[in-house]
Amino acid sequence: MASSAHQQAFTRIVPHFVGGQSVEGRGETRGEIFDPATGAVTAHVPFATAAEAAAAIEAAAKAFPAWSATPPHIRARVLFRFRDLVDRNIDRLAAIITSEHGKVLSDARGEVIRGLEVVEFACGIPQVLKGEISEQVGRGVDVISAREPLGVVAGISPFNFPAMVPMWMFPVALACGNTFVMKPSEKDPSLAVELALLLKEAGLPDGVFNVVHGDKVAVDVLLEHPEVQAISFVGSTPIAEHIYRTGTAAGKRVQALGGAKNHMVIMPDADLDGAVDALMGAAYGSAGERCMAISVAVPVGKDTADALIERLVPRVRALKIGPGTDGEAEMGPLVSRAHLDKVSSYIDTGVEEGANLLVDGRGLSLQGYEQGFYIGGSLFDGVRPDMRIYREEIFGPVLSIVRSATFGEALELVNAHEFGNGTAIFTRDGGIARTFMTRVKAGMVGINVPIPVPMAFHSFGGWKRSLFGDHHMHGPEGVRFYTRLKATTVRWPDGAGLGAEFTMPTMS
Ligand code: NAD
Repeated sequence: MASSAHQQAFTRIVPHFVGGQSVEGRGETRGEIFDPATGAVTAHVPFATAAEAAAAIEAAAKAFPAWSATPPHIRARVLFRFRDLVDRNIDRLAAIITSEHGKVLSDARGEVIRGLEVVEFACGIPQVLKGEISEQVGRGVDVISAREPLGVVAGISPFNFPAMVPMWMFPVALACGNTFVMKPSEKDPSLAVELALLLKEAGLPDGVFNVVHGDKVAVDVLLEHPEVQAISFVGSTPIAEHIYRTGTAAGKRVQALGGAKNHMVIMPDADLDGAVDALMGAAYGSAGERCMAISVAVPVGKDTADALIERLVPRVRALKIGPGTDGEAEMGPLVSRAHLDKVSSYIDTGVEEGANLLVDGRGLSLQGYEQGFYIGGSLFDGVRPDMRIYREEIFGPVLSIVRSATFGEALELVNAHEFGNGTAIFTRDGGIARTFMTRVKAGMVGINVPIPVPMAFHSFGGWKRSLFGDHHMHGPEGVRFYTRLKATTVRWPDGAGLGAEFTMPTMS
């Protein structure tokens, strides 16, 4: 939500970070930042003008020659120090995340730790950047293949992981020798600036990492500016598709990760109590605002469905909901009132479509926090694939049960969905699990694991309309995305004249 300048005189203003300095934004449009627990406006963020966004790109371009020429192990040393600084500041960073996003503190700490794992991977990137050499491909001729940085690269991130998603991107990009412009979500932008300050404290040269805030105006500059070589995007599918199409049309390399509708198949032989525990965390953790949240449960067979529901309903009703700072709370508020209204209206739609609402989280009011953006956990049974609540991403604590008669039907259901981010199966049958693993159309698969987010040294990404582009994030795919290959053929003069060759050289 944007507001006019006179309303904001006394709240905190989140600065941009350009060329190693915090810079106050001059843009007329300013976004409000809420504490979702109370609904109060706590800060404002000026959206960058096109000129301000261009200035950040130019700062990154100026820093590129020196940073790309810095030996990889010296670049890695900065990231080692950054890792230590983030670790030492983890409670403060988690508190900032909770104050702008709303998630519970333990979950906020968890996302910082998952981000740090990528920093740890990036500290070892000199090993991955080692090239390949083939000696003596002709007499006295060697070929060297080496990966080189791209130049200025940009990251655009969503509200739901203000620490982890930027950390999927910039540690790998910087370790590979690129310079970076980050455009975080305007809903919780403070964390990116905190990370920029810690990078500076760790010894990162000015201009190597920059942060600009804003909306479409700033993003359009990133998409069009000739200095930007590549764009990493994470957010909703319509914007991901727009970023991919526009960025690639402008000749840039783009990886654009989009939305999700993740299914968990529960077989009759599954450890049902384990599956219910997994579903509770995966569907309702972080109030369902995770791209790897499970939002569809697919029990196979009527008995499995009935037994699952019998166990789930009391657990969903008993969810502890409160401000993210309450150590007892399992689920905090949603990020904004607009998002709360959207999730509530999806529950209205589900009822209108004829799904059976077993637990209704709408209209939750917490004493002392009446203006906060709270909603209770909700559970639907009898959801059909033609319903909007099944087809569309709700991004809230709403779990839909789609009953399936057979494993084959469940697998077909998962594969027919437009999204293919993650999926899971709970079963004790190795054959079924293996068939699921090999035939399911999704980028990340869990077997008796509810949220199969790969470790940093593997890569993260979905299939179908959950990812536009060829590269997943971090791990080996991240290094490929942020570098390009150069093959150099070398011959040193040895006194033997070769003469002019007019045929295709064959080295024979
Ligand atoms: P969003 O698409 O609204 O915003 C993402 C980013 O794009 C933000 O920085 C925003 O400022 C910018 N943006 C928004 N509209 C734009 C426009 N018209 N032009 C240019 N830029 C624009 O997403 P969100 O609501 O912040 O985040 C939630 C979404 O992100 C969900 O769909 C979720 O599934 C997805 N997500 C996906 C992954 C994944 O790995 N696939 C991870 C996290 C979140």
